[in-house]
This record gives sequence, C-alpha cells and structure tokens, in this order.
Amino acid sequence: MSDIVSPDTPAASPVPPRVRFAPSPTGFLHVGGARTALFNWLYARKFGGQFLLRIEDTDRQRSSDESTRAIFEGLAWLGLDYDEEVVFQGANLARHQADVERLLATGAAYRDFTPPSEIERLRADAEARGVTFRFDPTLAELSESELAAKLAAGEPHAVRFRVPDGVTEWPDAVHGRIAFPNKDIEDFVILRSDRTPVYNLAVVSDDIAMGITMVMRGDDHISNTPKQILLYRALGAPVPQFAHVPMIHGTDGKKLSKRHGATAVGDYQHMGLLPSAMCNFLALLGWSPGDDVEVMTREEMLRRFSFDGLQKKAAIFDPQKLDWMNGQHLAMLPLDEVMPHVFPAFERLGVATREQLDERADWFRGLVDLLRVRARTVDDIAHQAVPYFRDDVDYDPDAVSKQWRDANATAEILSATRERLASLAVWDTEVMEAALRALAEELGISGGKIFQPLRVALTGLTASPGIFDVLLYVGRDRSLARLDAAVRWLKSDVTA
Ligand code: GLU
Repeated sequence: MSDIVSPDTPAASPVPPRVRFAPSPTGFLHVGGARTALFNWLYARKFGGQFLLRIEDTDRQRSSDESTRAIFEGLAWLGLDYDEEVVFQGANLARHQADVERLLATGAAYRDFTPPSEIERLRADAEARGVTFRFDPTLAELSESELAAKLAAGEPHAVRFRVPDGVTEWPDAVHGRIAFPNKDIEDFVILRSDRTPVYNLAVVSDDIAMGITMVMRGDDHISNTPKQILLYRALGAPVPQFAHVPMIHGTDGKKLSKRHGATAVGDYQHMGLLPSAMCNFLALLGWSPGDDVEVMTREEMLRRFSFDGLQKKAAIFDPQKLDWMNGQHLAMLPLDEVMPHVFPAFERLGVATREQLDERADWFRGLVDLLRVRARTVDDIAHQAVPYFRDDVDYDPDAVSKQWRDANATAEILSATRERLASLAVWDTEVMEAALRALAEELGISGGKIFQPLRVALTGLTASPGIFDVLLYVGRDRSLARLDAAVRWLKSDVTA
C-alpha cells in the first residue's frame, strides 16, 4: 500500500481529495452524522477538493422524504455546502446490479440457491453449539447443468462474494494499520434474492462511480471496511483511503441517545444556537486542534484541521459545553452574523415583533451588542432585553433584599438620583456618570450606593450591563418613570 499518500498532504497527490457524506435518511440528522459531515467538509475545503452528498435511500421501508429534508436543512444551517448534484443511492440500482454481474463473470462472486430457511436452520444450529455461523461455500456448489437448469427455471437466489485467502489491511488515517484475516470473513451476500444490493456493494459501487478518494465515517463501520476493500479490488478499482472517526458518547460514557437530550441537529437550530458555535462544538467531538485551543471561527478550524488531531477514543457530548461554546461565539462573532439569529428569539419569547425591532434598528443592534457579552444563547439575550421593552419592571425578590434593604434610605437616594438625571440637558453616558458621581460625593456615599439600587429600579435585577449603558438604552423618559415607580413601590412597601 505504498501508493497511499498521507492524508495530511494531499497536495502531494495529483488529484484533489473527493470525499462524501453518505447518510441514510431513516431519521433526523443526528449530531454524530453532522460531525462526520463536518470533518469531511473541512478536509475537502482545506485541500481544495470536493465534498459530495449521497443519500443512502436503498432501504425504502425505513427511508423518508422528511428525513432527507432534515439532512438538507441541517447541512444548510451548519453551512456545510456540498459540490455537484446530490446522489440518491436508490437511483443507481442498475449499476449496482451490473457490478454484481461483472463479479459473477470474473468468478469473484457466485450464485447461491440455498433456501433462506436452510440458512436460518444452520445459523440456529451453530448458535446452539456456541459457534459463530459462517456460510460454507460448498453448500452453493452446483454442476454447470444444475446451475443452467435453476437459472432457466428462474429460481430465486442470492449472489455471494467469494472471499479469497489472505489478510485484508489498510492504513487507517485515524487508527493506523488495521488488519482482518480473511478467514474470519464469510462469503457475504452482495445481491439479495429480490435483486437488491446489500449495503457494502452499493457503497463501493457508488464510491467508485463518484471517484471518492477518502472514506471518512464513524468507526462503527470498521468491520465493513475489509469487505469493501475486497470488493474494490475485485472490481479493479483503486482502494480509497479510510479514516474512521470515533463514536460519540453522553457524559455518562454511554452511546449518545435520546436519553441524553436533543440529538437531532434541527433541535439545536430551533433552540436558537448559532451554527458557528454548533460547528465548533461538533469539530471538537473527536478532534483536538492542539495548543489547548477550543474556540475557533470556521477559518480557524480550516487552518488547523489535520488528521493528526483526530482521536481514537470515543468523544463526549456535553450539552453544558455546547452552551458555553455558544456564549463564546455570541460574544466573538461580528454583530451582523449574530443579528439574524436574534430576531426569532425575540419573537419566540414574545418580547417584540420583527416590525417593532426594525423600527428601531440601530437602537436594537446596540442593545444586542450590549447584552450578548453576558449571554449564552440568543434566548438569554431576549430574556435580558425584557426590561428595555416593557413599561413596568418586575423586581426580583433577591435583588430587593440585597440592594433595597433600607426602603426609606433607598427611596431617598433614588429620588435624588431621579432629580439629578432629570436636570441633565443631554442623555449621554459620560454626562450621566459625571452627574451621579458628583451626587454621590455630595451625599457622602460611594458610587455603588447609587448605582446598585438604580440598577434594580431600571432592570429589576442585580446584574446587567454597565449602569450608564442601561440608562442610555432604557431611554430618558422610561428611566425617569422607572425611578418614580421604584420610589412609589418602596414607600408603599414601608407603609404596608
Ligand atoms: N449510510 C451509511 C451510514 O449512514 C454510510 C456509511 C458510509 O459512510 O460508508 O452509516
């Protein structure tokens, strides 16, 4: 296998890499599938190759258009654009059958007329004896005249691949050399008696037709790879490179499933996650970019992507880390990239309609810019934005007990604050800051003794962006009205 070029240096190879993502449309686009798609995409884009999409819809019963749509939508949302036309595997049946005919013609495959019931009986028998069932090729042996008679009678039969002696091995780009003794591989079926191909045949036939140079997929497919390599050779096609990326587990170390929460990419899209954060998070499932780097833009991921960083051990899907990652991207991305994701969150939470937001577009952009630093999700931003939209404020009981402990004294400070702010000719953060610091000095108290109660009056909360930014974004009239309301509330609380 000396003709195999290291996958990290495909530039040394005359052909740019052609990779594919080949999901079966039998459910929603799973995060594991999306992660595999992302690795393929990164590899193709990094080395100027092509990333192709093949929908493996041969299992008609389990495949659905809805799942196919979810795959398209999920890839589009993640920004994983593919090259060329989508290939639907089911449309290639004639080629699959023709490839089987070629294998029959060269003797690499043979017809097996053994009735399925007989195979079942032998399998059950082997199981009862505690041995692994392996098809015995002598069962299928027929004389030429017997074969001709059965074919003439149209007797149903499967086609099996004749596994040669020897060892099948490949240099896996993730695992290093992997070898399977051929004696452990039975003569496997490649065409069923209903003339439909099995997975291994269809995949190899399609990968050859699509000119795939690197097969990157989940390591649950490792046991299929020796069979596929044998098929490539028997079909006279060059064997592509293989990279088997690790499975994804939940934080409890068990295979990721619904028990661990949302596993469909679409769920995260509808939760308002940023696609760049999702991609960054997915990239770290089985890949380590080195230098302790975790937060990366797409460009950074492309720059750093290499097979050296791909890991063998299972990756852990930690939803808390995904939240954290989203917060990092919310704060880091250009505001223009964040804004489109924010509008739906406001509409979802009923904070404001799209029209209302469009009316005050600049103000709204500024507010999002202010709030995004403290948020992990766009829904957080919408929640935190509530006080900037409503006329009244709900006072958080913890904020009241912490910052408004002495109701009388607080009411006095807030009244004085209101007066000072009302007297300002311009509503400007520097002017407000100078005025309130001067007031603190006059009252002989620290700035915090004014700012903290003021924050509760304006937002109802103990944490918010800088208080002068809050004043600016709540606006003059509303800020003064809120101070009036806070004073009234504090006084009524005292008399109650
Ligand atoms: N349809 C297979 C799957 O979804 C594709 C495996 C492959 O990439 O060869 O697991």
